[in-house]
Amino acid sequence: MKQIILTGDRPTGRLHVGHYVGSLKERVKLQNSGRFDEIYIMIADAQALTDNAEHPEKVRQNIMQVALDYLACGIDPEKSTIFVQSMVPELTELTFYYMNLVTVSRVQRNPTVKAEIQQRNFEASIPVGFFWYPISQAADITAFRATAVPVGEDQLPMLEQCKEIVHKFNAVYGETLTEPEIILPDNAACLRLPGIDGKAKMSKSLGNCIYLSDTPEDIKKKIMSMFTDPNHLRVEDPGTVEGNPVFIYLDAFCRSAHFTEFWPDYSGLEELKDHDRRGGLGDVKVKRFLNNVMQAELAPIRERRQQWEKRLPELYELLEAGCKVARAKAAETLNDVRHAMKIDYFVDNNLLK
Ligand code: ATP
Ligand code: MG
Repeated sequence: MKQIILTGDRPTGRLHVGHYVGSLKERVKLQNSGRFDEIYIMIADAQALTDNAEHPEKVRQNIMQVALDYLACGIDPEKSTIFVQSMVPELTELTFYYMNLVTVSRVQRNPTVKAEIQQRNFEASIPVGFFWYPISQAADITAFRATAVPVGEDQLPMLEQCKEIVHKFNAVYGETLTEPEIILPDNAACLRLPGIDGKAKMSKSLGNCIYLSDTPEDIKKKIMSMFTDPNHLRVEDPGTVEGNPVFIYLDAFCRSAHFTEFWPDYSGLEELKDHDRRGGLGDVKVKRFLNNVMQAELAPIRERRQQWEKRLPELYELLEAGCKVARAKAAETLNDVRHAMKIDYFVDNNLLK
């Protein structure tokens, strides 16, 4: 069986370091592993419109921004097909058929949808399109016959829902769709990076992000103002490492080489954490170190982004070509789906048979 990746992001803003550690870094690793036959990376504009129907300009403007972030992180257009969701209308048709295989109460139970409805204050006015986006996501994944979906932890319920749809479809219409496997980061700190405000998730919609395209000054300002352990009032007080965003970011980004380079007083992160727990370690010092680490990690990404910003017409062509490749692939799956559902009436006179 072909090994195929499908993953993507909503163009609701530029991408941030949560995307990077949660999904982008893994994608680049998988892309370069040589283990995959096809890789599709989708800019999910149609999904972004489900909760941004009144802000089409925001979605439109972020398409190129997200594409730039991909290339900046090391997505290689020679190896990965980058495309825009709405340019592949086959996905909408698949969604329409899958909707019949899912109950309203099943979507209502999806914990990510529940949390996002609350976060967007949609309780009394959920757009129908937003409500069923997990079904549309199943269409995206299965259209490309994805075997692997590298994403952050918040996508686990979507993948479960997708697998259920695959099973149901195959049970009702015969073996047609491929079951995907979720690929989560191994590093627990990367599963769901918190926001700089201490909220559980860094998210474009919450405005608590460090963006991959932020200037060195912005990054520093954000880190120095980060939410930290609220009970650590005086330097000599013992600190709490668990749940402290500054230490979570260090868990996500810091390597032992960073200590050698920026803070040789400590042998590594465990020793620094022990000092914090004992007391006597000031937050500002830790934040300065985190700033050095993040600047070192983000500088090459920002530089690659700046190079691509000078080549926008090339990027445009690359996206246009990617959409064609993606559409052809999705159309093949849609043909199989129609065949399995016996609604391919005019292929080989099927309706007469
Ligand atoms: P929005 O607020 O518009 O939903 P978002 O910041 O949640 O934006 P998405 O485009 O929904 O970003 O998510 C893209 C990918 O990044 C998904 O695989 C998601 O799991 C992952 N991701 C998003 N935020 C984080 C985070 N804070 N930590 C780890 N992974 C994340
Ligand atoms: Mg999201």
